[in-house]
Amino acid sequence: MSEIVDPTAFAAELIRRPSVTPKDEGAIEVVAASLEQLGFACHRLVFGANGSAPIQNLYARHGSGRPNLCFAGHTDVVPAGAAEAWSFDPFAASVRDGMLYGRGAVDMKGAVAAFIAAAQRYLDERGPGFTGSISLLITGDEEGAALDGTSKVLEWLDARGETLDACLVGEPTSARALGDMIKIGRRGSLTGRLTVHGVQGHTAYPQLADNAAHRLIAMLHALTTAELDAGSQHFEPSTVQVSTIDIGNPTSNVIPASARAVFNIRFNDHWSGARLKRWLAEKLDEIGGGYELDVTVSGESFLVPPGELTERLTEAIRRVVGRIPEFSTTGGTSDARFIQARCPVAEFGLVGQTMHKTDERVALTDLAQLTEIYHTFLGLYFDRS
Ligand SMILES: [Zn+2]
Repeated sequence: MSEIVDPTAFAAELIRRPSVTPKDEGAIEVVAASLEQLGFACHRLVFGANGSAPIQNLYARHGSGRPNLCFAGHTDVVPAGAAEAWSFDPFAASVRDGMLYGRGAVDMKGAVAAFIAAAQRYLDERGPGFTGSISLLITGDEEGAALDGTSKVLEWLDARGETLDACLVGEPTSARALGDMIKIGRRGSLTGRLTVHGVQGHTAYPQLADNAAHRLIAMLHALTTAELDAGSQHFEPSTVQVSTIDIGNPTSNVIPASARAVFNIRFNDHWSGARLKRWLAEKLDEIGGGYELDVTVSGESFLVPPGELTERLTEAIRRVVGRIPEFSTTGGTSDARFIQARCPVAEFGLVGQTMHKTDERVALTDLAQLTEIYHTFLGLYFDRS
């Protein structure tokens, strides 16, 4: 029998690998080696090898039967920022007063460790009687461009004819206390880069010029004062936020010939990226004049209507911590946006209050309870008990 996986020790081992995207520093191998010990078939998948930095990913599966329940997560982390601002070395995995400190503690090396510990307990209990499959899809490209991570692994699975029946994503979805929130969808994100073209001139002779700054202001005003929607059953209203305005005109008596701005729209399930593009064109054309708009949609909005997966997850949370989670769609986008096209997906993990911050940390009791929630969920998912 394999050694018992301790979620705290395992999370600490992962934190000591400074796997800031796109670097791996052996983090994926730590996960693969422990899963191989537990009898998982591991596929180490490297993508983007022809680009700037190859990305390490892992698909591991225990069993060959159905259903195949997948846990999805990532081992890459955001940079630590100024290390001297931390109470401890961000990659030393120090424990103080019942808290484990380190970059990735909650987002999301802690959840990866908790799930592996939970899977071991569950598989040990079931023994040879287990006929389903547990799989893990672990990427090293979630915090980065997400081009050589989850989406590529899913394509690889498609090519093998391998199916996921349900997926649990271990992002830190709890807001204030472990178990208070599950994410059942995410808003979409659209970035617009707007350049307005006018005619340069003397500020004393505006009739001979076309002020690009004025038209840019009018366009941004039109976008930021329009009500995109009033929200929907599971989503907050969509919002437009201006990120930057750049004219760079050093001279006070010259009317600028061009002006630029960047804005970001977080949109709900009333919209698609394509519909928003048409809406933007209409709004900007109403102001008129020469302009260019370059649009990137980094994720469409999606919603997985509450069903069996969320019900069982809710019951597991209730049994372990006595809370009934809120079903939410708030926050940024996540890799669940790729997976939801294949199978039902729900996101649940640690308390996210310190994620991406100085002194990111997780309570050891939360790690132990998350392990127990995942363990209980496995029983409810496969055995309904
Ligand atoms: Zn994350």
